[in-house]
Amino acid sequence: MFSKEQILKQYFGYTGFREGQEALIDHIVHGDDVLGIMPTGAGKSLCFQVPAMLSDGITIVVSPLISLMKDQVQSLVANGIPAAYINSSLSVNQTHKAIENARNGRYKIIYVAPERLDVDDFVSFARSAGITMVTVDEAHCVSQWGQDFRPSYLKITEFIDKLPKRPVISAFTATATREVKEDIVKILRLNRPFIAATGFDRENLYFEVQKPKDKYRAVIDYLKRNPDKSGIIYCATRKAVEQVCEDLQNDRYNATRYHAGLSESERAANQDDFLYDRKTIMVATNAFGMGIDKSNVNFVIHYNMPKNIESYYQEAGRAGRDGTNADCVLLYGGQDVITNQFLIDHTSEQNDLDSETLELIKEKERERLKQVTYYCHTMDCLRSYILRYFGDQSSNYCGNCSNCRQNFETVDILDDSKKILSCICRMRERYGIQMLIDTLRGSRNERIQTLHLDQLSTYGIMKEVPQSRIREIIQYLVLNEYILLTNTEFPVAKLGAKYKELLNSDQPILMKVMTKLEREQKEAKSGNLKAKQYYGEIDQQLFTKLKALRFQIAEESRVPSFVVFSDATLLDMCRKKPTEKDGLLAVSGVGEVKFQRYGERFLKIISEHGAAAAGAALPASADSAPSVEEICESVRRSFVPSEKAVPVSILADMLNSLLLQKGDYKITAIKLANFFMEKGLLQMETAEGRNNRVATALGKEHGIVTVEKTNSAGNTYRQNFYHRQAQQYAANHIEEWIGGA
Ligand code: ADP
Ligand code: MG
Ligand code: ZN
Repeated sequence: MFSKEQILKQYFGYTGFREGQEALIDHIVHGDDVLGIMPTGAGKSLCFQVPAMLSDGITIVVSPLISLMKDQVQSLVANGIPAAYINSSLSVNQTHKAIENARNGRYKIIYVAPERLDVDDFVSFARSAGITMVTVDEAHCVSQWGQDFRPSYLKITEFIDKLPKRPVISAFTATATREVKEDIVKILRLNRPFIAATGFDRENLYFEVQKPKDKYRAVIDYLKRNPDKSGIIYCATRKAVEQVCEDLQNDRYNATRYHAGLSESERAANQDDFLYDRKTIMVATNAFGMGIDKSNVNFVIHYNMPKNIESYYQEAGRAGRDGTNADCVLLYGGQDVITNQFLIDHTSEQNDLDSETLELIKEKERERLKQVTYYCHTMDCLRSYILRYFGDQSSNYCGNCSNCRQNFETVDILDDSKKILSCICRMRERYGIQMLIDTLRGSRNERIQTLHLDQLSTYGIMKEVPQSRIREIIQYLVLNEYILLTNTEFPVAKLGAKYKELLNSDQPILMKVMTKLEREQKEAKSGNLKAKQYYGEIDQQLFTKLKALRFQIAEESRVPSFVVFSDATLLDMCRKKPTEKDGLLAVSGVGEVKFQRYGERFLKIISEHGAAAAGAALPASADSAPSVEEICESVRRSFVPSEKAVPVSILADMLNSLLLQKGDYKITAIKLANFFMEKGLLQMETAEGRNNRVATALGKEHGIVTVEKTNSAGNTYRQNFYHRQAQQYAANHIEEWIGGA
C-alpha cells in the first residue's frame, strides 16, 4: 500500500504538499466529508485525486465544464492515472464504451457533467460499482447566491441517494462568501464536514494599475518589455476585442480573439490555438476563460476596468496557475466607470425580476463598482486591498504590486545611464538585457567569461548598484529611446535614436526609483521563488530547447503542452540540470510515468546542451566575435533536420538553438513563415473568414505539407508541416533572416 507522499511523488512528481492539501486528504482518507475553499491555482484537484488513488473504489467527480474535464483527464492519464470523462461531447457509442470500461474497473477517477447524474445507464452502472467518493468541483455552482448557479447541480444529492452505500462527499470551490459556503454544506448535505479555507492570496501574481493616456500603447509597451510571455487581454466590449486584436495582428503579434458574437466554430478554433500555444495572445471579453485551466498564462491585462473585484480577481487569477511569476495589469480610464454604470442601469431588460428586487440588485452592483473604482485609485497596497475585500487579514505591504513599488525617491541617473550606454557600445550591440546587467555588475557567470566580456573596460563598473536598480534605469532608457530593444523573441539591446544626446549631456536626468528600504524588503521577499524565475539564474537557451521538445511531444500525443510538463517544471529542470534518472525525478512535476514516457528525451537535451555550452567553438575574444557569414556557415553545417515533419515554431526553435550558441541572434516563427511566403513556398488563403498560410505547388515540391486538422469542437483548421527538405531549405537561407543585422 502506498502512502499519500508516495502517490504525490510517484504520480504527480511533487515532493511536498501545499497549504491545506494535506489536511483535506487526511480527512477524506479517514472517511470524513470535506469542503475545500482555496483560490484558483492553489491545487484543489490534488486534494481529491490523491485520496482517489489511495482508495480501493471509484471516485466520481462532478464538474460543470466539458473543456475542464478534458484537460484534467488528459493530465491524469499523462501521469499514469486511469481516468475518463463522460459528457455530451462523447457520441452514444463512445459513452457506451466508457461505461463498459468503467464497469470492468478500468478507471479510478471518472469525471461527469451534472446532467449525466440522472441518465439511466449511468445510474445503473454507479449502483453496481463500488463508488467510494463523490467529488463536487466548482461547488459554488449549487448556490443561487454564486455567480454561476447551475440548476443541474441540484441533482447531485438525488444521485447520491440512489447509491447502495453513501460515499464520502468532498466539495471544492475557489469563491465562497458566507452565504455560498452555507448553501454548499446544506444543499450537498455534507455530514459534519471538515472545512479548510486557505487564504485568497496568490503570491506569485504581481498587481499593477496604470492610467495611460493611450491604452493600446500601454499594451504594446508591456508586450515589448515581455516578449517571451503569453497571456490574455480582456476588453469590455466585442468591438474593443476586434479592434485590439486586429491592431496587434497588424503589428505582427501572434494574437487571436474570443467573444460571444463569433461563430461557435471560430470560438472553438481560437480557443484551441491559445490552449495549444499556437497563438500566444488571446484578446477576449469575459466570455473567455470559464473552464480554461491553462496553467502557463504569464499575464492578464485588463484593457478596461471590470465591473467588480470578484470578476477582476477571477479573471486576473487565470494568470500564473502553475505558480510561476505572472502579471495582472489593469488599464484604467475614466470612461470605464461610465460604461459600467450604463450596463448596471440597463440590466432591467433581460430580467423578469420584480422592480424592487431589481433595484436592490442594482444598488449592490453600484456599490461593487464603487469598490473596484477605488481599487484603481488607491495608493495603498493593491494586494491587501483585494484581500481585505474578500475578508482576509493582510498587512498593508506586499512589495509585489505597483503601489508597493511606488514609494519613490528621486535620483539623478545621468552617470549610470552613460555607463550603461557605453557598455552596450562596447558589447557591440549584440546582447540582451541580462548579459548587459551581468557585465556591468561584473558577474563571474560562465558565459560572460567564455565570451570574454570580462575583458571590456565597462566590466564591473556598476558593481555596487543593485540589479533591480539597473533594470529600472534600463527600462527608463528604453522608454525614452536612448536604448532600442529589438523586436525579436530574445530582444537585443542596441543604442537608440537619442543616445548621443545623452552621452554629450551634463543635465541631470531625474528618475523616480524605489526607496532603499522598499527594495530591500522586496528583494528579501523575492528570495524564494519570485523574481528569479524568469530572470536571474534561468538558462534561457536551455529553456527554449526544453520548450521545443515539450511542444514536439505534445504534438505527437495530441495534448496541450502544459499536459506534458508545466512551465514551472521546465524552469526547475533549467535550474537543476539533472544528468540522470534520479536527478530528473527530483525535478518538481516529474513523476514515475512521465519519467518513463519522456525522461530520456529531456535528459538527452539537457546533456547535449551542457556539452554544447562547455565545448562550443566560441570566439577567442569578444572583439573577434564571429562575423554574420561565419555564423551562418556554421549553422548550415551543424543543422541536422528532423526525420519527422515539424511545425514552424519547432523549426524556429531548432534553428535558434544553433544560432543562440553563436551569439544573440534569433528568429521567430512568424518571420520564418513570412520568409516562406516571400519565397513563394506558402500563400495566404482565406476560408470561413480565417486567414491561413498554405503550401503552394512550389512549397510542396520543397517538402511543405498543409494538413487539415480538427479541433475538439469538430471544426477544421490548417497547419503546415515542414519535412527534412524544407527544414534544410530554411537553414540554407539562414542569412536572409538575420539579414546581416
Ligand atoms: P485549482 O485549485 O485551481 O483547481 P489545480 O488543481 O488546477 O488548481 O492546480 C494548479 C497547479 O498547481 C497544477 O499545475 C498542479 O499540478 C499544481 N500543484 C498542485 N499541488 C501541487 C503541489 N503540492 N506541489 C506542486 N505543484 C502543485
Ligand atoms: Mg480546479
Ligand atoms: Zn502591495
